[in-house]
Amino acid sequence: MTARSTTSRQSSDEIAALFHDAAQRAAAFRSALPSRSIRPTASADEIEHSFALPTPEAPGAPSEILNSLAERAEPGLMAMPSPRFFGWVIGGSHPVGVAADMMTSAWGQNSAMSYATPAAAYAEKAAAAWLLDLLDLPREASVGFVTGATMANFVCLAAARTRTYRKIGWNIDEQGFIGAPPIRILIGEDAHASVYAALQYLGFGRGSATRVATDAQGRMIATALEAELEASDTPPIVICQAGQINTGAIDPFEEIVPICRRFGAHLHVDGAFGLWARACKDRAHLAIGAEGADSWATDGHKWLQLPYESGFAIVRDEAAHRAAMSICASYLIEETNHYNPKDYVPELSRRARGFPAWAVIRALGRQGIDEMISRHCCLARQLANRLRREPGLSVLNAVNLNQLIVDFDIDSPDRARAVREIVQTIHDGDQVFVETAEWRRRLILRVSITSGETRLEDIQLLEREIVNAWRKSLHHPLQTSRQAPESEIHHATA
Ligand SMILES: *Cc1c(COP(=O)(O)O)cnc(C)c1O
Repeated sequence: MTARSTTSRQSSDEIAALFHDAAQRAAAFRSALPSRSIRPTASADEIEHSFALPTPEAPGAPSEILNSLAERAEPGLMAMPSPRFFGWVIGGSHPVGVAADMMTSAWGQNSAMSYATPAAAYAEKAAAAWLLDLLDLPREASVGFVTGATMANFVCLAAARTRTYRKIGWNIDEQGFIGAPPIRILIGEDAHASVYAALQYLGFGRGSATRVATDAQGRMIATALEAELEASDTPPIVICQAGQINTGAIDPFEEIVPICRRFGAHLHVDGAFGLWARACKDRAHLAIGAEGADSWATDGHKWLQLPYESGFAIVRDEAAHRAAMSICASYLIEETNHYNPKDYVPELSRRARGFPAWAVIRALGRQGIDEMISRHCCLARQLANRLRREPGLSVLNAVNLNQLIVDFDIDSPDRARAVREIVQTIHDGDQVFVETAEWRRRLILRVSITSGETRLEDIQLLEREIVNAWRKSLHHPLQTSRQAPESEIHHATA
């Protein structure tokens, strides 16, 4: 029997033309960012229909497929890498990282083992060493290159689980939960939802953790943690945070670390974005002491500007990290004297995440990272100061990092709707993107300054858009009793 082939193999010229086409399309998208709509121009229903073609029967022509993909996708894309995107904590996908990612895809390395692809393994190992240096974390810690902070939390908490059960003579990775003695998990009241997801995936359950009280900024109260630890004799895992999603607040590690040490707790830090304060001279003091924790989850695709998907699971106890993630099969050729990326992540086959990380850290350098984080934090404070001057607007958080909670003085039974309408006005202007969030049971507008290219002019534009939308809302029937100011602001005075 002969193999059937309906198409001939693509020539190298054809492949080159295809890659060239893809690169040109990517470049066109990026250069149009300043002028294109920030939000998708087509509705989700329209996009759904445009993609849902009948199952393709015959092979298609490569260049037509790219064209057809771009035509369908582009109206449904949001300008997330735009410097005027402030909606969620989202990085700008640094061009060098994107380019390195394109090469990574073309190289097609299955990056589990150094035996098969030493380049993928050792680019990762080198990027990991830089990361530990930039964040000033224990240099002997191991780093798993995962898809984001959710998975980084998952991996770190798996290692925490391994370690904590070991202390009581239970091999959780071998024996599992059935019949296992109890352990205790403590978490701050204002932890990120993804940590609860990680606890769920690990079999602890979302509801099993004891919530520890936090202060007005969302920081764990060390004495409350201490009281909880004193009241129990089961071995604990403590989950802290660097960078609360709304306030940007960082837990007081200098107080928490000694308490965790005293009670023999594994201290994990969800530092998806806030851990990066440590890479910035003016902000490092905010996260001082975090180096005393046992594991740290952070993102590459937020403040470091790596393309998606990039997160780092950093664990002090390398042996526990490996034990929690181990996967063995007869066909895996393990050179134990070499670095094998699969030992630190849940996946076996995966892309070579070290290449874009290595490239972006080189492109920015320690100075570039320091400058960017410092700039974002200064811009956040400037914006807060300006918004606070506008009657009826307030900023509810202490702006030490890059996050702002903007509140509106709305005296209406339908306050939440009025806030949504203000945000809708901003969306309709399509100059900047912000979103609502909930803080202390109140709907607020959240601003996150994380995009690598965001500069003063972008923040001035954002200020105008927020203030004008607020002033406009004063004429709205939802807020009738108010006296609205006459004019809109057209320029921000520096
Ligand atoms: C974004 C974020 C996460 C989740 O990270 P992903 O990269 O979206 O998986 C976890 N914790 C905090 C504090 C975050 O800001």
